[in-house]
Amino acid sequence: MTRNIKKLLIANRGEIAVRIQRACRKLGIQSIQICSQADRDAPFVASADENLCIGPASAGQSYLDIHRIVAAARLCNADAVHPGYGFLSENAEFSDAVEAAGMAFVGPTGDVIRKMGDKISAKKAMLTAGVPCIPGYEGHATSNTDTLAPEAEKVGYPLIIKAAAGGGGRGMRVVHEAQELGTALAQTREEARLAFGNPSVYLERYLEHPRHVELQILADGQGNVIVLGERDCSLQRRHQKIIEEAPAPGIPRDKIDALSKTCSTACRAIGYRGAGTFEFLYEDGIFSFIEMNTRIQVEHPVTEEIYGFDLVAAQLRVANGEQLWVTQDELAPRGHALECRINAEDPGTFMPSPGTITKWIEPTGEGVRVETHCCTGSVISAHYDSMIAKIICHADTRIEAIDRMKAALDAFTVEGIATNAPLHRRLLDDPVISKGGMDIHYLEAKLEGRT
Ligand code: ADP
Repeated sequence: MTRNIKKLLIANRGEIAVRIQRACRKLGIQSIQICSQADRDAPFVASADENLCIGPASAGQSYLDIHRIVAAARLCNADAVHPGYGFLSENAEFSDAVEAAGMAFVGPTGDVIRKMGDKISAKKAMLTAGVPCIPGYEGHATSNTDTLAPEAEKVGYPLIIKAAAGGGGRGMRVVHEAQELGTALAQTREEARLAFGNPSVYLERYLEHPRHVELQILADGQGNVIVLGERDCSLQRRHQKIIEEAPAPGIPRDKIDALSKTCSTACRAIGYRGAGTFEFLYEDGIFSFIEMNTRIQVEHPVTEEIYGFDLVAAQLRVANGEQLWVTQDELAPRGHALECRINAEDPGTFMPSPGTITKWIEPTGEGVRVETHCCTGSVISAHYDSMIAKIICHADTRIEAIDRMKAALDAFTVEGIATNAPLHRRLLDDPVISKGGMDIHYLEAKLEGRT
């Protein structure tokens, strides 16, 4: 039962909006780009088939306003809405509101987002489906410190307190010993209440030297699921990914294959539809689930490169009601791909660097892909995320992909604002990063001069 999507509203901005517009063009779908007043003159708005300014710069009154976006979609006669990543992409009410208005939401149903968006219920669902998880205490921890202290002892120290509604690396606190527990619980709960409107927290053993490895899945919601391999996203700062790659160096294929099978089964069990990511920590040869992202991820292009598979177009086809057109056996990765996230920020202090780009020259050449909404003259607003581009390099081997990335970064010229491109360039010369397989703490240790 196909839905015949002809017009799609993009409920996002920046590079992912451009990426979705490209997928629309490929499939002959008309794109409608919403924007805030701050983005009105941005090229990503003009490049869509239609555009509509829906509110002021503040995201709360534009990109995060469900009512305005659904009203805009109705006004423009859209028959589908793509939420991108961030903003409302993992908001169950948004998915429900879009479907209730008779349009297709490009992503899972509200109920599935609700279940997987709450990290406690996601973890419980995964445990039921047989997916390995980090040992911890998932009981909805509205209970006080006295009742949690014995649970914390069972989990063992160091442990990490995590907000059930947390995201974007926020709402987490590491506790090294029992006497820190009370204060840390109170602080994390309060932070979670303010940031996510939900103070629930849970406890997890804190892994000291894990890697972050995630699986990309695509499900049609009709019982068919494929797993498009893994990505290694261990290079992080403040729990935010900086460089991602696929495949993950040095992890035995049979371990990945076994995990993929378990995750496919879990997807069927939860009635998953669309693209999604199972995130794991990998330590001492063991995978442990941390969370599921029910949307397209920033780092999806590394998977697209090695599989030659357009994930965003696939999202649209699945939302259109198509059955999966490839089987797991037909998928074969080729070579290695890396992605560097380019942010408008000072490469030393990490302070945002908004302003006008006075010169912009992108790298080109074989195996080099740039995803961006920027060009010479673009104004980088302080209102939104500082990511201005992603450079993706693909080659037959990891070493060649790194060399290609170094050349691409050398050829990349941005003037008028500061970017973290020089930091990326420096990181790629690091012997540990060149070798691969570093843990999630490596980058911060290096930046602080501890390695
Ligand atoms: P978010 O939703 O905010 O991205 P995640 O649960 O995905 O939060 O965790 C983000 C990052 O935090 C992980 O990639 C990892 O670096 C770190 N982290 C999360 N849980 C643990 C843990 N139990 N032990 C050690 N590090 C962790």
